[in-house]
Formats: sequence, C-alpha cells, structure tokens
Amino acid sequence: MSDSPSIFTKIIAREIPADIVFESDAVIAFRDIAPQAPVHLLVVPKTEEFANVTELAAGNPALLAELVSVAQSLADEYAGGQYRLIFNTGENAGQTVFHVHAHVLGGNLEEGTLG
Ligand code: 5GP
Repeated sequence: MSDSPSIFTKIIAREIPADIVFESDAVIAFRDIAPQAPVHLLVVPKTEEFANVTELAAGNPALLAELVSVAQSLADEYAGGQYRLIFNTGENAGQTVFHVHAHVLGGNLEEGTLG
C-alpha cells in the first residue's frame, strides 16, 4: 500500500466525482473515465490494501469472489451478460492504478479491444 490514497480511494470517499453504478460495504463500481468499449466499468474493493489481483487472491479470496460476482451482475444489467473481465497486473501489463480493480468491458466489442 502506498502512502497516499489511490485515485479510487478518493472516489470511494467522494473526494472526486465518478459515475457510480453499484456500491456495497466491500465493493464499488463506476464507469471508466476513458471508456474503451461501449460498456466499460471498473469494479473495485473499497480497501486499497491489495495492489493487484494476485495479492487479492492470496490475501482475501472471498473478496475476489465478491468482486467477480458484482462484475457478473453488472454485466447482466449493462451488457446482456456478455463481457470481458480484465485485471491488468503490473506496469508492463498496462496497470496504472495500483489499487486492485476489474475492468468489465461489454457491448459489441471490436476485435482486439483489451481495455
Ligand atoms: P489500469 O490501467 O490500472 O488497469 O486501469 C485504470 C483505469 O482507471 C483506466 O482505464 C483509467 O481510464 C481509469 N481511471 C483513471 N483515473 C480515473 C478517474 O479519476 N475516474 C475514473 N472513473 N476512472 C479513472
């Protein structure tokens, strides 16, 4: 965990605005600010103690399961249940925010869209 709050922690705290589509005690979901598909949601645990999905899987598998379940529900609601679920893991894989999050991409994806 870094010293300063992640951009997602600031969204959770309502310090910066976001288009929030779901929130529970443990998980929040909002629209990506730079969508790469017709539906592009980010599903984020409220705790920022896990930098990536590997740490989350090792440290709190139940929370990872909840994240995937929320992603499925949102994909059902916003993308007809067909979607890509992406966890960029590490800088070389394109990860820019080191507060674990799942990208949910849906809605007539073009070939090659990676999120
Ligand atoms: P990563 O590259 O770490 O897998 O994904 C980070 C995602 O967060 C990017 O798709 C980026 O567009 C999104 N993002 C970065 N800053 C903000 C923000 O302030 N608000 C929202 N809604 N999304 C953001």
